[in-house]
Amino acid sequence: MNKINLTDLYKDKGCLSEYDPNSLTYQKAILYLEQLIEPIKKTKKVSIEDALGLILATEIKSSINVPNYDNSAMDGYVFRHQELKKNNNKVKLMGKILAGHPVDPNKIGSVCFKIMTGGMIPKGFDTVIPQELVKIDKDLVCFDFQPKKGANIRKAGEDISKNEIALKKGTYLNPLHIGLLASLGISEIKVFESLKVGFFSTGDEVVQLGEKIKPGQVYDSNRYLIKSFMHKMNLHFNDYGNLSDNKFKLEKQLETASKENDLIITTGGVSVGEADYMKEALSNIGKVLFWKMAIKPGRPMAFGKIKKSFYFGLPGNPVSAAVTFLQFVKPSIKLMMGNFQFESTPILEAKLGQKIIRKKGRTEFVRAYLEKTVKGYCVKPLNQQGSGMLKSMSDANCFILMAEKEDVLEKNTYVKVILFDGLI
Ligand code: AMP
Ligand code: MG
Repeated sequence: MNKINLTDLYKDKGCLSEYDPNSLTYQKAILYLEQLIEPIKKTKKVSIEDALGLILATEIKSSINVPNYDNSAMDGYVFRHQELKKNNNKVKLMGKILAGHPVDPNKIGSVCFKIMTGGMIPKGFDTVIPQELVKIDKDLVCFDFQPKKGANIRKAGEDISKNEIALKKGTYLNPLHIGLLASLGISEIKVFESLKVGFFSTGDEVVQLGEKIKPGQVYDSNRYLIKSFMHKMNLHFNDYGNLSDNKFKLEKQLETASKENDLIITTGGVSVGEADYMKEALSNIGKVLFWKMAIKPGRPMAFGKIKKSFYFGLPGNPVSAAVTFLQFVKPSIKLMMGNFQFESTPILEAKLGQKIIRKKGRTEFVRAYLEKTVKGYCVKPLNQQGSGMLKSMSDANCFILMAEKEDVLEKNTYVKVILFDGLI
């Protein structure tokens, strides 16, 4: 696909059309986001303890060998292999080597040591045999077989060698990366600055926790939903609360938020209803880049730019807000924070336990439950698929992914599954 510039996209009727045939496909929306999102460039130093979910701004080279000495992979006995042959598979036991307590190299002769896992291999020694495989006869360690030379020794530098690149610039740091950094003795790293994200929910009917709910009202679940997704990414948002469906107030708040944040997220008011003002507000003070997508749930989702900040107007229905956040906003946040690629969702295949029939035309994320049975894994769609039904999403543990052109998925065929574990 050619590089798109913002003005061309804004003028592209296909993206702005309110008719379904012109709505943006899932794949095209991702391509657009990949091209339009610009990473923030500011970096900062952080302790590795605070680095989870941040993105590495430099590559990390190891200044040491890991492990930094040859050591035993087993609790067993260490000896020189050639001594075994000389002494008819018997070697004299001299002492013990515990991890952290190397033996004095000057006192080592043609002998054998008991050695514990992680114990340092004495110079010139080359083989370790697990304690279960030898017999002890007074001060002799006896073998009834010829072990392989070099067995059970972890060589210095076999995990990472000195000067090797341990982590690439742009790595989204997870607990394993933090452990790896610690194994190199690195306590502080350079990462890209956390994004400044602003959020508000919209809707005259939306009430806050603690208030008594009246008929016609709904609790503000989206605020807590999006806030929790952000927490899981070790990010926070500037919380601008809930705004009523007032075009001028919404516009004003968007404008203020654009001065204070790199990214603004809102929920609600993004469709074509009478009180849906977000798209209009966005086009008044910024640029609508696209807003209608051929996905289910989550068809309306405004994406645009207000001054220097990007904007995602998510739908008000909580499941649609969750799906659009996970599929588009979360990977975009990572892109903005320096990740190299729009992260594609890992997809597995599992056997379908129940036929699915639907109207084709949109990429659909069907809430489902993946279960282990005696015959292997089996996935079944949940009965409730309404875009406002958060309960069925909280009961699900995966999505079945249906491509635009698919209208029937037959029972017992293999279908595409996106696990919540890892996605959420
Ligand atoms: P909208 O996108 O504004 O048309 O809203 C679609 C549906 O989502 C309506 O039924 C709203 O009541 C509901 N909704 C909107 N905002 C929220 C919110 N913050 N929490 C829970 N439900 C919401
Ligand atoms: Mg609304």
